[in-house]
Amino acid sequence: MPELPEVETIKRGLDEGLRGVSILEIEVLHPGVLKNQSPEAFRLRLLGDSFIKVERRGKFLLLFLHSGQVILIHLRMTGNLFLSDPDSPRQKHLHLLFRLDNGEDLRLVDQRKFGEVHLIFASQVPEYPPLKKLGVEPFDPSFSPENLFSILKGSKRGIKQLLLDQTKISGIGNIYADEALFCAKIHPSREANSLSFEEARRLFSSIREVLNRSIQAQGRTFSNYLNARGEPGDYQPLVHDAKKEYCPYCGTPIEHRKLFGRGTFYCPKCQK
Ligand SMILES: [Zn+2]
Repeated sequence: MPELPEVETIKRGLDEGLRGVSILEIEVLHPGVLKNQSPEAFRLRLLGDSFIKVERRGKFLLLFLHSGQVILIHLRMTGNLFLSDPDSPRQKHLHLLFRLDNGEDLRLVDQRKFGEVHLIFASQVPEYPPLKKLGVEPFDPSFSPENLFSILKGSKRGIKQLLLDQTKISGIGNIYADEALFCAKIHPSREANSLSFEEARRLFSSIREVLNRSIQAQGRTFSNYLNARGEPGDYQPLVHDAKKEYCPYCGTPIEHRKLFGRGTFYCPKCQK
C-alpha cells in the first residue's frame, strides 16, 4: 500500500502536471470507486473545471479545482493515479479516466478495487470524516519529540501498532513503521508507554529520516506503486525487505514474523 512517501511523490508529480489544466471528458469504468456520487453527477459536476493545486493529507490526495470542489482520493492497496499519453493502451483495471486539455489523460487504475474517490467542497475538507480523524502529520511543525512522547505515554499498545494508527500519526504504514523502529533501534513489540523520552526523541528523528529518504528516492515499489508519471520508486529499505537476510549494522539474521497481524521485519540484536 502506498504510504506517506509514495503518496507525497504522487502529489508532487500531479501538482506539477495538473495546475491550470482543465477536464474535457470523464469516463467512469468502475462506478464502485465513487463513494459519494453517481457516475453521471461526478461527470457533470467536473466537466470544464480546472485544477488549481494538489495536496496530501495522511495517505489521501486532494485535487483542488477552480470551482471550489475537491476530488479526494485514497489509493488503498493497489491504486495508481498517473498522467498518461491518451493513445497508450487502456489498462485492464482502469477505473477512472479524465481527458485533459493539455493533451494528457489522468488515469486511476486499481487491481484490487479498494481505492476510493470522494467529491467534496474545499470548505468541507477540515470536517470531512475520513480527514477529520487523521492524526498529526510527521512533517508538521506541531509534531515534535515532546508531542510524540505524549502520544506514546497514553498507550499500552505495541509501539508498531501505535505507529500504524492513522488517528495518532498519519501517513506511516507497515514499511515505514519497521524502517523507523529499526533506525531508532527500538523493538516493534515494546509497549508504547515504556519508551523513555530519549527513545521517543530517537524515534521522532528516525520517522522523519526514513520518510525523507524515501521521498528523495520517489518512494518504494514492491509490486504496484508508481509515481504520477507511471514510474516505480527506488527507495531501498534498511530492514523491511524479504530479500535482505542480515542486519546491515550487525550482521545478525533479520527476523521476519507476524506482529499485530502485519508482516514485520526487525533485528533481534540491534532493536531493544
Ligand atoms: Zn542488527
